Amino acid sequence: MQHRIDINKYGPRGQTMAEAIQSCVHCGFCLAACPTYKVLGEEMDSPRGRIYLMKEVLEEKLSIEEAQPYLDRCLGCIGCVPTCPSGVRYDELIVSYRAFSEPQRRRSLTDSMARRMIAETLPYPSRFRKAVASGKVGKLFKGAMPEKMGAMLGLIPTDLPVDKPLPPFYPAKGKRRAKVALLSGCVQTVLDPDINWATLRVLSENGVEIVIPQAQGCCGSIMMHIGEEERAKKLARQNLQAFRPNEVDAIITNAAGCGSGMKEYGLLFKGLPEESEAEQFAHKVQDITVFLDKLGFKPPAALPEPLTVAYQDACHLLHAQGIRNPPRNLLASIPNLTLLEVGDGGLCCGSAGTYNIEQPEIAHQLGQRKVQHILNTGAQAVVSGNIGCLTQIQTHLTERGISLPLFHTVKLLDWAYRQTN
Ligand code: SF4
Ligand code: SF4
Repeated sequence: MQHRIDINKYGPRGQTMAEAIQSCVHCGFCLAACPTYKVLGEEMDSPRGRIYLMKEVLEEKLSIEEAQPYLDRCLGCIGCVPTCPSGVRYDELIVSYRAFSEPQRRRSLTDSMARRMIAETLPYPSRFRKAVASGKVGKLFKGAMPEKMGAMLGLIPTDLPVDKPLPPFYPAKGKRRAKVALLSGCVQTVLDPDINWATLRVLSENGVEIVIPQAQGCCGSIMMHIGEEERAKKLARQNLQAFRPNEVDAIITNAAGCGSGMKEYGLLFKGLPEESEAEQFAHKVQDITVFLDKLGFKPPAALPEPLTVAYQDACHLLHAQGIRNPPRNLLASIPNLTLLEVGDGGLCCGSAGTYNIEQPEIAHQLGQRKVQHILNTGAQAVVSGNIGCLTQIQTHLTERGISLPLFHTVKLLDWAYRQTN
């Protein structure tokens, strides 16, 4: 796709955006992998259409506002990237474009309020906890509130598990085989703190010593996703200071979105003094499943009863990080467990960061689609490596009145280990 983009106008990311646009040959192979194209059937709601729209805006032939409805409907699920034969980096393009366009947008008061609430609440566990308390009050007024605020309130769980702060250090069991640092995350620590505790136990069981830097914060990926670049940088800088990548074998994450967000730190700080430090940090980031698979994990004990589980690929594991086999290897190693595939080609469940809040109707359709595919497997339980997917699936199962246990991958592994310990 030829372009006439004046890259100097768009800062360090101008080159990134121009290269992605230039490499698109308009073939359309990506269309089938795009959830919004599947649901809406519109060219402009496909990756190819969106690349064209971004090109037109950057060439100043189209206004940001004209293109925005279609770009806002992009989930950022990255499903289009692995299918592209020309290697178009749509992931880098959309993140860079949102960072460029967001400061120039005119938003309604309710939109601005909803975004402000997201930015000021979700990345901070203590604020998020407090917001849940006020959300319970807010639910009483839900019907009287604007649509997006209503969608936001609807996502807030009615009860939260008890907070279990993590220690600064967790020892390896037996001979030490590795030393890692853990990103504890933000939303996940509030919604399901046991995922982090299960991660500590599983790593320890495999001879891994863990440091949990107490000065760390949210990875910033939610802010990157919604184009709040300065907020994302502020959060990322906090982590660059809190972690010591040179002193550990890996920086471990157990949330797909955090892992892919931290792997983009180099792009976030492109052209800035922190770029090389950010790249070193990003290079050390590993999902827990990848780390254990590479390390060689201890075989788990047999489950007390046979169990069939459907494994749901989180987009930010499968598409954004190319992680397909490691979680399957871990699960398949558990005796008495049968792994079933969700036959939808890894299509996004509609969770995708704040998408549920920003685009509730499409998110709902995708959530229902995903649940149907899961039910088609006949599995007794669902496993995924991302709290967003687990929450979305739970919401849509509940809506259908179906009760099915949901596990984070590491919690299931932890459970299997504890059958003999
Ligand atoms: S598959 Fe790649 S090259 Fe083809 S239209 Fe999609 S983004 Fe462009
Ligand atoms: S990131 Fe996802 S929603 Fe956006 S264009 Fe690509 S496949 Fe479609």
